[in-house]
Amino acid sequence: MKLSRYFLPLIRENPSEAQIASHRLMLRAGMIRQEAAGIYSWLPLGLRVLDNIERIVAEELDKAGCVRVLMPTLQPTELWKESGRYDAMGKEMLRFKDRSERELLYSPTCEEMIIDIFRSSVKSYKALPLNLYQIQWKFRDEVRPRFGIMRGREFLMKDGYSFHISLDDAKREYSKMYDVYHRIFARLGLVAIAVNADSGAIGGSLSHEFQVIAETGESALYYDKTFDDIRAGKMQMSGEDMRRLYAAADELHVPDKCPVAKENLREARGIEVGHIFLLGRKYTDAMKVDVNGPDGNSVRVEMGTYGIGVSRLAGAIIEAGHDENGIVWPEAVAPFKVGIINLRPGDAKCDAICQQLYDTLQGQGVEVLYDDTDERAGAKFASMDLIGLPWQVVVGPKGAEKGVLEVKNRKSGEKKEMSLEAALKTVKGTE
Ligand code: ATP
Ligand code: MG
Repeated sequence: MKLSRYFLPLIRENPSEAQIASHRLMLRAGMIRQEAAGIYSWLPLGLRVLDNIERIVAEELDKAGCVRVLMPTLQPTELWKESGRYDAMGKEMLRFKDRSERELLYSPTCEEMIIDIFRSSVKSYKALPLNLYQIQWKFRDEVRPRFGIMRGREFLMKDGYSFHISLDDAKREYSKMYDVYHRIFARLGLVAIAVNADSGAIGGSLSHEFQVIAETGESALYYDKTFDDIRAGKMQMSGEDMRRLYAAADELHVPDKCPVAKENLREARGIEVGHIFLLGRKYTDAMKVDVNGPDGNSVRVEMGTYGIGVSRLAGAIIEAGHDENGIVWPEAVAPFKVGIINLRPGDAKCDAICQQLYDTLQGQGVEVLYDDTDERAGAKFASMDLIGLPWQVVVGPKGAEKGVLEVKNRKSGEKKEMSLEAALKTVKGTE
């Protein structure tokens, strides 16, 4: 993509409405635009990030045997009356009428509809276990939307629902999802701490929240300090091993009963990026969901439900990865992998080298943003740092004369002069 042809509305000054880094940087980098309280447009750069997150989430779930569906955002209210949540949801749920005076709602979550889909066609235990998920916009009329897309009213969620013949099998799936979630967050460049959580309004008997540590997080957590070593990259651990480490949400942490010695315990704030629940029969009892069991008798279905805040993750990744100059994207979610800066557009040599770099990288499937505009050099450097692409290749007239370019790694800040061939290898080498 050539910047002169792109739509990247950068903002130079810090927007006064933004209280936290991710919100400020998403606005400044032209990723999002607020349209109403808690309601945002995703501009091209932001959408590329959102798509990358969505793709990684879907790939890992597909690999784990989950099956993707897509349910409507607008739903009739009958199912919600059947489950009892029509009243329980209160003002968070947006309700309205269509032209025929039929009541509709904008789905804040989707248990009712997925259960209706399930019970209309699954009649036998042979179809179980079944794990269905979607990635779809939700609406919750939050009392206090804030921090940009972090606590929006309209937001993109991955919501998954599993169906089982026994509680044991639902527990097995819960534990599998626990590990899948760790894999997803690791691919997104994050270490998420799974804390025991109160299962609150959704109910059920077992629940974990996946929290990314950030000063601006809304939840308070207590955890084994080993997590800090993992976060610092000093240590690696699978989801399974992490499960043995202590971590608890604020209200579930009881100092007298905590198994971790005080000096090994850390207290921090976290952003909830995912949440899994073992539901049991909470909804299947209310909505009478049975299948034929192996012995011909009907069996009540057991369920689990699994959420990930896909749009919130874009903010959480920035909270975890930025510096005073802007965003520092992990490779997997970066909107482009490489930024080319032409310091003298119009100069035949600079133009030729940039074009060759651009064509070669694009030809190899590497996503490139080429700054071919007439901006001053200083402004170009600042913009490239702000949008945080993992690699920058700078082409100026002096270097072009000698056939050298400057390659900068955004994360380490390290800069090196090298030939075009070496530059191509360097920026490609880290996939
Ligand atoms: P929270 O405690 O943050 O209000 P929740 O417990 O109500 O979230 P869930 O119903 O568990 O949320 O939804 C699954 C995931 O969706 C959450 O883990 C979170 O990452 C994301 N999410 C929930 N509410 C919002 C919101 N208002 N804006 C953005 N993401 C959200
Ligand atoms: Mg939650």
